[in-house]
Amino acid sequence: MKVIGHLINGKLSASDDSAQHPRLQDLTNPSTNEIIGKVALASKATVEEAISAAEAAYPAWRNLPTAKRVRIMYRLRDLLEENAEKICELITLEHGKVLNDAMGELQRGIENIEYVCSAPEMLKGEHSKNVGPAIDSWSEFQPLGVCAGITPFNFPAMVPLWMWPMAIACGNTFILKPSERTPSCALFIAELGIEAGIPAGVLNIVNGDKEAVDTLLTDKRIQAVSFVGSTPIAEYVYTTGTAHGKRVQAFGGAKNHAIIMPDADLDNAVAALMGAAYGSCGERCMAISVAVAVGDETANTLVAKLKEQIAQLKIGDGMNNQNDMGPLVTQAHLNKVEGLISAGIEEGAELVVDGRNMKVPGYERGNYLGACLFDRVSEEMAIHRSEIFGPVLCVMRVDTMQEAMNIIDAHEYGNGTCLFTRDGEAARYFSDNIKVGMVGINVPLPVPVAHHSFGGWKRSLFGDLHAYGPDSVRFYTKRKTITQRWPASGVREGAQYSFPSNG
Ligand code: NAD
Repeated sequence: MKVIGHLINGKLSASDDSAQHPRLQDLTNPSTNEIIGKVALASKATVEEAISAAEAAYPAWRNLPTAKRVRIMYRLRDLLEENAEKICELITLEHGKVLNDAMGELQRGIENIEYVCSAPEMLKGEHSKNVGPAIDSWSEFQPLGVCAGITPFNFPAMVPLWMWPMAIACGNTFILKPSERTPSCALFIAELGIEAGIPAGVLNIVNGDKEAVDTLLTDKRIQAVSFVGSTPIAEYVYTTGTAHGKRVQAFGGAKNHAIIMPDADLDNAVAALMGAAYGSCGERCMAISVAVAVGDETANTLVAKLKEQIAQLKIGDGMNNQNDMGPLVTQAHLNKVEGLISAGIEEGAELVVDGRNMKVPGYERGNYLGACLFDRVSEEMAIHRSEIFGPVLCVMRVDTMQEAMNIIDAHEYGNGTCLFTRDGEAARYFSDNIKVGMVGINVPLPVPVAHHSFGGWKRSLFGDLHAYGPDSVRFYTKRKTITQRWPASGVREGAQYSFPSNG
């Protein structure tokens, strides 16, 4: 049976290495629930070995010219494109999403690497001549040292690529702990990184669970931690990591609302909502899971059109690109989503389309759930308060845009949101005032492109700096400001006891 192990100091652990694989966890194919391999869960000692390797590799890597570090990223980009099909198959096999969707996330990851290739430009620093008599001053951005990343199951390629390429391009060394539910893709991409020329110890992968995470959060040698996952764990990672003196950015869960105004192009809004709610089976932190319709007429038309579209959805094995939606990631997650659907019915929401009990011929044991549509959902219901992370779209009915905005602002999460309208004034008011980090106007998944940064507000992000883009350069470096004078005749002034200024 295939064992997904670790990559430490440039070497993959051997599948029969019981010291490095003290515990193994089954990996299942979500489409069939067959066991397809075992993932090794690293012990504290194994994580410490990875940290030692990263620490040893740091001085030489830090001093390598940025242009040389980046040249490796150019090669990696090409290798990712050459191996795209294999990477997407690994994603689909463990996650369940349709291959085309996997290709989309990989492409977004590659775009992050393309942005990282401009690191020499971004690390140029800031220089001021003559800040005082014959005194020059400049700021430079130095790497932090050994950094760590902890990633979720739902973007096995893209989210790790938000982190380590920029971290190492800035001169840090890195330890990535991917999700134990979808570990193969990150490991394979790291192997491509080694093939591209990343030296031993600069990038290390440890697979594991809480034991590995806790070691990364508490070891003195780790300078910074990037985390993406659910809000309770994000909060835990942030509080534990910062209590241990680390710089931490921890991205959490979401509940993303779209407001549909009476003047919106409803066919366009419905098409956009279908993809945003049901694409990737709703397992996206930017999925739209609530449609807030302004006015009953808007709501009635919206629900009727959504019902029609849901009937056309093709659900089945993700390896078949003819399908729109694959299975949920695990049986346990399917049970959790179904539990929330039952809670919605009990709390009085109207289940207009019930996707439960669906069977895909040939894949009867898979974690399949058809698209579900709830109408007349209210604020206090569990299906509105919780992130369902499944193919469940809730429709809420309000009378005004302000009422819809109040619902969004009151929600604990603030990752993404969207307004469908033809009214520029409403769009401007909405984007200016809504308390959410990423806003779309007639764009349902406003995931920023690689040269902007990604991040939510409220309990969707613990920390200050967003992921990738310009914020990631700041996250993975620390500013040092140097003020320099070379005394020459004429600038010798003797002791000064007042605070130096240009006054
Ligand atoms: P998760 O929180 O269960 O796991 C994320 C990571 O944390 C994994 O590597 C896991 O091994 C580790 N982990 C889990 N439990 C832990 C514990 N008790 N102690 C220490 N580490 C632990 O998240 P998931 O189910 O893999 O991913 C889905 C979640 O991620 C959703 O809530 C989704 O919204 C969120 N997400 C957020 C973003 C974002 O950018 N805001 C992006 C993608 C996913």
